[in-house]
Amino acid sequence: MNSESRDRLGAVLLGRLESLERAGVQQLPKPRPKAIEAVAPSQREQEVSMTRSTGGKLGAGTLFEEGSPTAVPASHAASLAVLQQEVAPCTRCSELASTRTQTVFGVGNPQARLCFLGEAPGADEDRLGEPFVGRGGQLLNKIIEACQLKREDVYILNMLKCRPPGNRNPLPDELTNCRPYLERQFDLIQPEYICCLGAVASQNLLGTETPIGKLRGKLHAYRGKKVVCTYHPAYLLRNPAAKKDCWEDMKFLMHQMGVEL
Ligand code: URA
Repeated sequence: MNSESRDRLGAVLLGRLESLERAGVQQLPKPRPKAIEAVAPSQREQEVSMTRSTGGKLGAGTLFEEGSPTAVPASHAASLAVLQQEVAPCTRCSELASTRTQTVFGVGNPQARLCFLGEAPGADEDRLGEPFVGRGGQLLNKIIEACQLKREDVYILNMLKCRPPGNRNPLPDELTNCRPYLERQFDLIQPEYICCLGAVASQNLLGTETPIGKLRGKLHAYRGKKVVCTYHPAYLLRNPAAKKDCWEDMKFLMHQMGVEL
């Protein structure tokens, strides 16, 4: 390996470690790919009992169940970190694997009640290894803050973990290849609510061709989770007049979640 490749690899690894640290991971387990599926469910059971058997009620205006520790159990974050390590070298989509800088797994609270689901990483996300960090990400941060939440309270992820070259739309095969990773992320996080950002995330998650304009304003269901659809931040940047519709969607979502605005 030449020194340029070593520097690039070092930058990628550093970015990934910083992202894990932001997600609350204190220690990295040694990768044990065969053990992942066996370990994750029992860990989850332990964590559920830690956070949910305390008689906590779902408080209005709270993002988490009462009784849940503010610090996420390291074992829980570690299950996601192990999955992240499995995703990192993925080559299921040969074009994406050969053009990406790195996979972009997801960021936020591993026990979030609410996940924001986007389409696929763009150039900034590909470079930094974190979803929604470009201009669209700044707008998403504002949307989250307007809901009186913080970026680190929620979990943010994409349908695809790799950047499609030139920011083209994800191909059907790519969405199929990446879907098991998304489902395992949701199985670990177990959010109550998913907010789909834009038509690609909304239509693919829900398995429908209904236009985004008609998916808005309703609660949908996906594997036991409640789903709300709104416009993608990139669309809002191009069409600022639609921001008021997005805000209506957020008020609807917060009302459903019992969060007072
Ligand atoms: N657009 C997305 O859908 N996801 C990102 O992470 C960034 C831009």
